[in-house]
This record gives sequence, C-alpha cells and structure tokens, in this order.
Amino acid sequence: MTDPGLIRYDGSNIANNFHWSCLSYDAVVKVSRSITRIKSEMESKSKRKIVYGHVVDVKRDKHGTAFFKEFRQGELEIGLDHKISYCGLRRTDCQSEVCDVYDFKDSLLMPSFSDIHLHFPQYEMIGSHGEDLLGWLNRYTFPIEMKYSDLKYAQSKAKQFVGDLVSVGTTSAAIYSSSHFESTNALLDACNSGGLRAVVGQVAMNRHAPDALLTKDLHDYEKHFSELFRKWHVDDGRLKLAVTPRFAPTCSDDLLNLCGQLLKGNPGAFLQTHFAETQAEIDWVQSLFPKSRDYLDVYETYDLCGVNSILGHGIHVTKSEMERLNQTRTAIAHCPSSNLFLGSGVMNWKQMREQNIRFALSTDIGAGTSICMWDIMGDAYKSQKLMGHTLTAADLFAASSIDGAEILFPEYQSFGFDVGARADFQVLNARKNRFLEERLGRNESIDEVIFGLIWSWTQSMVDAVFIDGDIRFESGKCK
Ligand SMILES: [Zn+2]
Repeated sequence: MTDPGLIRYDGSNIANNFHWSCLSYDAVVKVSRSITRIKSEMESKSKRKIVYGHVVDVKRDKHGTAFFKEFRQGELEIGLDHKISYCGLRRTDCQSEVCDVYDFKDSLLMPSFSDIHLHFPQYEMIGSHGEDLLGWLNRYTFPIEMKYSDLKYAQSKAKQFVGDLVSVGTTSAAIYSSSHFESTNALLDACNSGGLRAVVGQVAMNRHAPDALLTKDLHDYEKHFSELFRKWHVDDGRLKLAVTPRFAPTCSDDLLNLCGQLLKGNPGAFLQTHFAETQAEIDWVQSLFPKSRDYLDVYETYDLCGVNSILGHGIHVTKSEMERLNQTRTAIAHCPSSNLFLGSGVMNWKQMREQNIRFALSTDIGAGTSICMWDIMGDAYKSQKLMGHTLTAADLFAASSIDGAEILFPEYQSFGFDVGARADFQVLNARKNRFLEERLGRNESIDEVIFGLIWSWTQSMVDAVFIDGDIRFESGKCK
C-alpha cells in the first residue's frame, strides 16, 4: 500500500494531494468524517458568534453605585478576538455563513462570577463541624491538606474542583492550593484545561502547623514559586501566580521577607493571605510580632500590601488599617458564608465602601459552605442586614462578578458585557425555575427578579457557561 499522502486544510481546499484509492471503504469514511470535523472547527473559529437571550448586565456608575442594564430581546456579539463586540437589542438575524448563532430564547445571559478567595484542598471538607477558626485549622484543615502530597489524588480532585466551579458560573478565581509544589502544579494544569481564569498560590508556612506541611528550607519555596511562575504565569492571559503565606501566625519573619521579595521580583505576581478574621487571631499576631503597631503593619513591614494583594476577611479592622488599605489599594476578599459558619464576625460593608476600599465577594471554601456565588450573595445580604445595612441585588451581583474580575485581571480594562470585555458569561434558563418564571411573567423589575434568583437558583437552571466566547459547560457537563 502506498502512502495515502497528507491531509491538509488551507481554508478552502482539502486534500488536493490525498490518494483516496489507497484506502479501504471504512478508512475513507473515517477520513472524510475527520475532514468535515476539522473544516467545521476551523470555520467556526474564524466566525463571529451571536448569542440571543434576555441580556442582564451589571455596571457601576461614577459614584460606585451598582445597577442592572437589561435587554429582554437581547443580543451579544463575540468577535474573533473572543471579546464582546456588541451588547444590546437583538438586531436582524445574522447569516450562518458569517457567524455562529446561539439562540437561548428568553434565558438570562449574565456576566459570570469571580471568586477571589477559596482553598482547593478544603473543597472536600465543607461542613466540618463545631470549631472556631484556630481550632478548625488544627482539627480539620491541616489533616486534609496533608492528603495533597499524593499527586494522583491532587490531580483527580483538581479536575473535579475546576469543573464544579465552572458549572456554577464561576469563571475566574483566586485559589489557595496546599503547601505542596506538585498539587499546585496539578491545580494550575486543571485550571488550564478547564479554561478557568485563575490566580493560584502554593501555601507557605514554616511554623504552627504540622511538620509535613511546613516549608523547612525557604529556598524550596523560592524555587517552587519561580518554577511555577515561569511555567504558568502569563500577563494578560488566563493564569497567574500568587505568593501565598497562609497568614502571619504560620510564617516567620524570614518567610514573610522572602514573600515580599518574590512579590517584588516577579512583576504581575499576586499576594494572597488572611487578615483580621477573628479577635483571637489578632491577639496571637500581636504576641508573635510585638513590635508591630497592628496586624496590617506585619504585612506592610514586608511589602506585602498593594494593588496585587488580596487579604481574606478584614472583619476586625481599625480605622487606621482601613485608611492604609485604601492608600495601598490592597483588596479585601469578603467571605460572609465562612464568617457566619465559623462565627468570626461580619465585615463592615458600608464602611469599606465609604473608605473606598476595593473588595469583592468570595466563598472561602471549605469554611464557606457553598461553592456557588448565589449562596454567598444570600449570606452577604443576611449578615449585612444584621449590621443595619440593606444591600441591593445589583450591589450583590456586582460584588460577585465584575468587582472580583477587576481585582484579579485589571489589565482587561473592560468587564461584564462592555465592548472589549472577555466573553465570559452564564446562561440561566428561567423556565427551569418556577419562582423566577412567575416573577418575570408578572413583569417585576429586573432588580426584583435577580433578588429572587439569589434565593431560588438551582444548578439545573444553568444551560451554558461561556469563557472567552467558547462553551465550557453545557447540559450538565464540562467541555
Ligand atoms: Zn481562607
């Protein structure tokens, strides 16, 4: 049998030098099928995409007040650069020769979620009972995290974790891995294949935790960080690295100093850690760092605050710390589900906003009890009510989506459905939710409808999740 030749597709002709006669009938069928698939894949990659549905965007005005903008008979256009090129009322039908059309009828098209603080290894320990922060770390968190020294275990968990995030409409996240290099690499690999935008960090600790989780030689953390940074970090891309000291009490001065150097020496890198979650933690920090004037000062001393820094919680914060968070543009990850679960307290949303501190909502899995940002919005609403502050649905949705995306990927500049934004969004089928369908049928305002959705969202409503204009989750499955 002679060589059948090469299959090539140059955009117009296929297989001009392909010798069909050399193949059996079955082989010819197989080859023609693969040619059809290659051709359609290549053609669809060179087409604009038009998505029809009930478009609901969220924006902030110049005073920072969030509001919804809706187009009931709406249309999104995704350009060849995978960015939003049109958002508005449905225009005349696009011809399929020039664009791919997705008609989701009256389903909601909404910007996807951003979760700026969660722990990969803790996903399997949601709902571990009965402790406050420090007891919870010792009793549940550290023993579970030790399991992630097993690469195969970490790989299987990472794939599931990323798939579950995308399935609930979360398309960007800042994630703590375990303190192992291999599990962090596995997590980045899973984010890469799953299309998740992610800021990921290998946890650094060198005291007050089980021996197996400690960074004994600081050079190891430096070496691991540099290797992961070189391999995965891409500015303006989907993946970034974060220097990740767990929190001040588990880090010596030397380790915090190294973290500051890594942050400075690797432009574009992030810093993520915990801050002012409970009073007992603050007292412990004061005893471990007696020269510091307050908790934030520990991080400031080692140059860990700034525009690429995300501090988890920020509940028990002094006036002076608030001012310095604002001055350094350091962001806070607000984790109401976790804070309620551990009884840590309630972050002062109103004051944070008045002080112009950047913050966004986060799950803080596994002390947070849900991976889904709709549930987190509900917990934020209820806990702020206890503080005498009533949040709007637009406040909550913006803090779960565009605010977090802007903290993690400021270089994108456009968010939500603004022209130029990455085409990351979720499609929610109102017909699969009786409460929502009734509200829409009664012509309630979009604020009322979305507020109702916070309490009635179900997984079965998610028809599709798009990242960069490609469907990554559809009909209950990740792609
Ligand atoms: Zn946390």
